[in-house]
Amino acid sequence: MRALHRGAAAGRQCGIGVEINVDYLSLIALNLCGEVIVERRVPLDVPGTEAGSVLDATAAVIRDALDTLRGRGARTVGVTLAAPGVINLETGVVGYAPNIGWRQVAALDGLRDRLGPAAPPLSVENDAKLGAVAEYLVACAADIHDLIYVTGETGVGGGIISGGQLLRGAAGFAGEIGHMPLDPTGFPCACGRRGCWETMVGLSALLRFAADTGDAVRDPAVDLEQRLADLRDRAGSGDTRTLAALDRVADSLGLGLALLADVLNPRAIVLGGHFAYFGDYLLDRVRSVLDERVMAPDVGGCEVMLSTLGFTAAARGGAYHALEPVYQDPSGTTAAQA
Ligand SMILES: [Zn+2]
Repeated sequence: MRALHRGAAAGRQCGIGVEINVDYLSLIALNLCGEVIVERRVPLDVPGTEAGSVLDATAAVIRDALDTLRGRGARTVGVTLAAPGVINLETGVVGYAPNIGWRQVAALDGLRDRLGPAAPPLSVENDAKLGAVAEYLVACAADIHDLIYVTGETGVGGGIISGGQLLRGAAGFAGEIGHMPLDPTGFPCACGRRGCWETMVGLSALLRFAADTGDAVRDPAVDLEQRLADLRDRAGSGDTRTLAALDRVADSLGLGLALLADVLNPRAIVLGGHFAYFGDYLLDRVRSVLDERVMAPDVGGCEVMLSTLGFTAAARGGAYHALEPVYQDPSGTTAAQA
């Protein structure tokens, strides 16, 4: 992870990150200064859509961005797909992503086939790990080099930066924190088990606690931003069910974070997605549960922070990842032309 380049040439080279989420596809193109050049979000019910059609839609979003960037005179040096679940980085196969119902989906080859040989180099990485990379580029400016990024979406994942390095573990599974079994008698989880942490704190859990089936905030066809804005309005007007739902999520969030803080001793825990969006309702309560539960004095010096990247962290991390070859080879002699 390197310092961002400044200067005229930096504005012309771009990396694209595209995230496949449960509820949407999100794309961001960044230049070497880290400026957003193109941003797109397409609502999509990914678990309810066949994997091939999801890849069709993903390829269409990428193609559109490539055309836009080309029209502006920018050169795209790479595209990184941010996907949930366990991914084989060499083969580009998403082995298991329970929240979107993918098993052994050859995502990278599928995209290559759809985009054709003229496309820039493609790669794939886990969404939470890419989110952590994007957050680390913000946090390292404050001299923070040990952090855990917790995604706040339907699936809850973690990206762990330890000593400035992304932690992957022996088989690349490090960070699958959403499936910590914290309530064995709790709700069924998409992974087939019961009471995983994400069934207590994930976006679906919050919406389920806050609203009945049939309520617009639980309709995946409605843009997520709109649904969350509706829920914020309810919280702002003092709706007791919404506020109780947020308190419940905060309590369970604090419980899981206490575990992570004791095991990993991070300098910062950065909360993303809906945790950040509802941060003003969650943060005080999360901090106090963490204080009560954690073994290390003063939470081991750990600060709980809200992401400032909204729902874009994974796509941003993907764009940085796609730009990595330029940082390795600034003359651009090995970067592909797009
Ligand atoms: Zn689970």
